[in-house]
Amino acid sequence: MSVRVVARIRPLLEKELDKDVIVSADRAQDGKPLSIVKIPNPKNESEEFSFAFNSVYDRATTQEELFTSEVAPHMKALFQGYDVTIFAYGVTGTGKTHTMRGGLKLAERGVIPRLLSNVFRRGKKIAKETNGETTVAVALSYYEIYNDKVYDLLEPPEKRTPSGIPLREKDGKTIVVGLSERSCEDLKDFERLYIEANNNRVTAATKLNAHSSRSHAILRVKVTQTTGDMVRESTASAIDLAGSEDNRRTDNGKERLVESAAINKSLFVLSQCIDAISRGDKRIPYRESKMTRILSLGQNNGITIMILNLAPIRSYHLDTISSLNVSSRAKRI
Ligand code: ADP
Ligand code: MG
Repeated sequence: MSVRVVARIRPLLEKELDKDVIVSADRAQDGKPLSIVKIPNPKNESEEFSFAFNSVYDRATTQEELFTSEVAPHMKALFQGYDVTIFAYGVTGTGKTHTMRGGLKLAERGVIPRLLSNVFRRGKKIAKETNGETTVAVALSYYEIYNDKVYDLLEPPEKRTPSGIPLREKDGKTIVVGLSERSCEDLKDFERLYIEANNNRVTAATKLNAHSSRSHAILRVKVTQTTGDMVRESTASAIDLAGSEDNRRTDNGKERLVESAAINKSLFVLSQCIDAISRGDKRIPYRESKMTRILSLGQNNGITIMILNLAPIRSYHLDTISSLNVSSRAKRI
């Protein structure tokens, strides 16, 4: 089990060009690459806090650079049977969805379409190199966790039951009962499915008078390699987490309080799990939240990458400090 925690600082948006930039990236003493995030102490601005990461990606980092450095190196392991899990964590507006999904233009594509494209390419290559003796099948599931309830995003919102999809334990594994799975042949297939599912997500949120930034969206890519009677299965999971800001600060409605409690608890458990994995602990508290339970975080042989998304400007100051504080392993030094 290995874990990496990296930070990505997004560029200024058009409307922010005149704003005060307070977050910067730096190299550790031992040189490259960038691994320190610096930010003023909100209580005493002459003082600076430093947080250490495995890597820091500054404002100029492209989608391709991020994928090439953080995700591509693990694709071989995925095909060797290891599970790969990638989280985007951070305050709403800091670039989680941009990092994971990205834009429509080729250069703007995020981690998810790049990962799928890589998987399809590898699958074809394996089939070719083994003269078709090994086949590679890709199946997708996509679901969200909202208020600690699980909803299938490959199903239309009308089909949702208020209590969500039940979980069950089987052979020590958590199963999302009846979660859909769709096989996918190529990137076009995937894109059709993904657009439809994201529309379901937005429609469902609108009906609840909520916002999709308050749910965790989890895409599961199951890769099955079959050679004769030998089957090797592994999973890549890509997660666009709910915004880590404290919703209570902006809205005191009862609904928001419930959401906030559910979001904060699951993000807290996630950070505890990442902490425990990175320390090499035997006991990982993955059972304490649905998201970490479904992912069996730390239970299987796998690779976990947590990307902390950061906005560089002052209006995010307090939320940025708190997300730096909880993103485990991002130690304040
Ligand atoms: P989040 O999902 O965390 O709420 P978004 O991904 O929606 O944040 O990003 C907020 C805004 O910032 C969007 O308009 C997005 O296009 C833009 N943005 C985020 N990261 C980048 C980046 N690396 N380069 C260019 N624009 C970005
Ligand atoms: Mg988002």
